[in-house]
Amino acid sequence: MIYYPQKYIIPDEPMVPFIDNDEIQSFIRDTKSNFEQVKEIIQKSLDKNRLSLQETAILLNANDAESIEAIKEGAKELKRKVYGERIVLFAPLYIGNYCSNNCSYCGFKHSNKEIIRKTLLQQELVKEVQSLEKNGHKRLVLAFGEHQHYTPEFIANTVNTVYSVKQDNGEIRRVNINAAPQDIDGFRIIRDSKIGTYQIFQETYHEETYKKVHLSGMKRNYEWRLTAMDRAQEAGIDDVGIGALFGLYDWKYEVLGLVRHVNHLEAVYNVGPHTISFPRIQLASEMDIDLSYIVSDDEFTRLVAILRLAVPYTGMILTARESAEIRDQVLQFGVSQIDGGSNIELGGYSEENKHLQNINREQFTLNDNRSLAEVIHELLEHGYIPSFCTACYRMGRTGEHFMEFSVPGFIKKLCSPNAILTLAEYLEDYASPETKILGYNLIEDKIQELAVDTNVRTLKDKLDLVKQGRRDLYF
Ligand code: SF4
Ligand code: SF4
Repeated sequence: MIYYPQKYIIPDEPMVPFIDNDEIQSFIRDTKSNFEQVKEIIQKSLDKNRLSLQETAILLNANDAESIEAIKEGAKELKRKVYGERIVLFAPLYIGNYCSNNCSYCGFKHSNKEIIRKTLLQQELVKEVQSLEKNGHKRLVLAFGEHQHYTPEFIANTVNTVYSVKQDNGEIRRVNINAAPQDIDGFRIIRDSKIGTYQIFQETYHEETYKKVHLSGMKRNYEWRLTAMDRAQEAGIDDVGIGALFGLYDWKYEVLGLVRHVNHLEAVYNVGPHTISFPRIQLASEMDIDLSYIVSDDEFTRLVAILRLAVPYTGMILTARESAEIRDQVLQFGVSQIDGGSNIELGGYSEENKHLQNINREQFTLNDNRSLAEVIHELLEHGYIPSFCTACYRMGRTGEHFMEFSVPGFIKKLCSPNAILTLAEYLEDYASPETKILGYNLIEDKIQELAVDTNVRTLKDKLDLVKQGRRDLYF
């Protein structure tokens, strides 16, 4: 039975924790791996099947160079075959750094008296959003500390404010949030503000470690956090993003924990998470953790490739915590979303909020400091289509990642044309002359590739309309 604190509603049927520590440990300890098995499992994934825990463990325990290479090549092939070259772009926006928890790895922890606590005022928030819009952003993730200030009503109001800010051709079309787990009623209030994805990370699925690094506050309750997505689903939020903070415990355990979480949501709610995030521990002010589980670059690239194969139809998010070099490498393994031009200081985007920026309020360090314009230029140089597409969300097509993966022709008919249209908007409104040339050349090539598809003529018509100044066209 899960312990629910007094202020939260206890459901009639208590939600049951679904992580079995002994089971996961035995998969890691006892699963043997050989090259033949690895090849078969990769093929299963390429045939669009999610992998079992045991199959994932076989990939995790494959230590020979030949198998590791095959896993990385398999992930690349899956990305090429299934997702094509689109990369969705977003930006994080920090709303406030009040926090009641004490996570030993985070600079925002309650016990850190060195940082100044601050929540953006309405006017400051508007300036931040205007600034992001001026750079071309259309999709944001709002990040809230975990504190009683940030009630469901506060979160919903913030989301509404962000959607309301429009200037010139700029607007935010999808607001995702990263905020504390709520009870079911709280999630309902947030749902009604029309968020895109509700994102919350378990940090570590290993309960003992979880208790060691979450010293006090509501977050110390492992089960409350583990079952957050269940309550979100019960409240009607079916678009959720899960994640683990790699470096707190054995990376193999966390991969299996994530896969187990996906299985659980699919089994109970018939819909898996929309996205998986896999941030790696970065230095933070006042960080106090066991460094023996820090994940090396080699391990990190392996784990991204294995996750891609294990849950082939879940979106994968890579953030600017990673260096540009690592980001470029793992983009090939099936990452589908990255942030661009990120600033995680409160008030970090707007010139008018500069007075807030003199104090270091960052939660952790970013290692990719490229602007959105630079990220887009480099994506184009590498043949990727930067995309700001929000079409499914706005047309009420839910389960979009599953659809793009499983509905034949979905990507060619919808995702690729939509990516091209949002890229064209960006090129018209925000790009330098060099990026514009590069972008339209790429669009030309992609249209040739799509030429057998029936939408191409309509796509060309819509592209002409974008060039004439029309915005927000999609399929
Ligand atoms: Fe607070 Fe989140 Fe930082 Fe933990 S990780 S201290 S909950 S902001
Ligand atoms: Fe995602 Fe839907 Fe756009 Fe495809 S069409 S990129 S699934 S929002």
